[in-house]
Amino acid sequence: MNDFATLELCPPILDAIAAEGYDTPTPIQAKAIPPALAGRDVLGCAQTGTGKTAAFALPILHRLHTAAAGAGHGNRQTKRRGPVLPRALILSPTRELAGQIEASFRTYGRRTRLRQTVIYGGVSQFHQVRALQRGVDILVATPGRLIDLMEQGYVDLRQIQIFVLDEADRMLDMGFIQPIRRIAESVPDGRQTMLFSATMPRSIMSLADSLLTKPVNVSVKPAASTTKLINQFVYMVPHRDKPALMEHLLVEHGVDRGLIFTRTKHGADRLTRRLKHAGVTATAIHGNKTQNQRQQALDSFRSGKSRVLVATDVAARGLDVDGVTHVFNYDLPHEPEAYVHRIGRTGRAGARGVAISFCDRAERPHLRAIEQLTSKRLQATSTPASIQGSGAGDAGAGDRKTGVASPAPAAAAKKDRRASGGPSGSSKKRRFVHSKKKRGAGGSAGGAGGGGRRRQRSAR
Ligand code: AMP
Repeated sequence: MNDFATLELCPPILDAIAAEGYDTPTPIQAKAIPPALAGRDVLGCAQTGTGKTAAFALPILHRLHTAAAGAGHGNRQTKRRGPVLPRALILSPTRELAGQIEASFRTYGRRTRLRQTVIYGGVSQFHQVRALQRGVDILVATPGRLIDLMEQGYVDLRQIQIFVLDEADRMLDMGFIQPIRRIAESVPDGRQTMLFSATMPRSIMSLADSLLTKPVNVSVKPAASTTKLINQFVYMVPHRDKPALMEHLLVEHGVDRGLIFTRTKHGADRLTRRLKHAGVTATAIHGNKTQNQRQQALDSFRSGKSRVLVATDVAARGLDVDGVTHVFNYDLPHEPEAYVHRIGRTGRAGARGVAISFCDRAERPHLRAIEQLTSKRLQATSTPASIQGSGAGDAGAGDRKTGVASPAPAAAAKKDRRASGGPSGSSKKRRFVHSKKKRGAGGSAGGAGGGGRRRQRSAR
């Protein structure tokens, strides 16, 4: 009853999304597309994974395509007088998300004559400037590089008719408020504006107040409360035992494609090194990596060459990889919304997913906040005896009031694979191991004593 045809998108766009296999709009699409097509401002509360990119991309493509078609032959008349100036501008917090948005426009708009390009920092501006000089209809940009190119006179925003801020909360978190305000001043007053954000704190509401005119509010429930397809577990584990537990879960259990979130960039690098050393094909993505390194990491993860991607929240923002079987919260996020965001990377498109979180003593308040937000008590799982105390542990693992007791410490000496009780059952697939394990049992149990203490200090 609710298919795309009822949304009155033009045939080239309907064809393109049919070719993508989309037959039913997601809730955010069903709510946002009609007002967006009507030219209304939209304030959308939605996470990555809900289909929000298409929620703004499809109406933009429709409006620009039908306007261009009405004006004659595409956008050619303007072209004769000089390069086509962008008519839609989409701001995104990160390069990865910007790249994915542009790719979505390319996919959904491939049967139109509209052109899009993406500009972001961290790479040479040469090709970006060339693309702008050739002329584009749709410009996707991160705020910093956009300002940079505006200052150099390469970007002219005077023809912008539709202005989108995607993941606005992240842009504010990343300190982009001034660039956003400057950019907003450079786009014409009469444009249509759409603002999407995973959360709606006061700062976003006031930004929306200043940029939107009588917006239609659309909101979809966080992915976590809508999907029953994600099995969620938590290990109550001392901080210093986390590396060994992570390694154990990856090596001992069948994880086809795992995304691991750490809180810090150094934490991501450290964990990646350790996993590689244990024979796990892992790669890291975070803000200290160059654009090339990030792209390589993503390609490697997408192609399955690396079965594990270790990421920080910001770098993983908007990451769109199909078939993620497991999301691991190696560190619990400080904002409960980020948990919802993170685990939404698995259990997509009807597939089953597993979300496993590690919680040490200091992280318990974060766990409570997550449980409150999602109205769901995470199922606590006991840490395998072989891992307990492997990092010269602190007290407290398994003493959560959930009643899941840790096996007796005396049992720790004994390798007890059964005790893992982990979500992947007793499967002993070693698909991650691409070379002989280099570490001995002591090494893999890892970093006892001073090393463990060092790790704990630097990660906090
Ligand atoms: P997004 O929230 O925009 O990152 O989209 C999440 C994923 O959902 C992407 O892989 C899209 O290709 C996919 N997607 C978006 N809309 C639909 C739809 N209506 N039907 C099926 N898949 C969709």
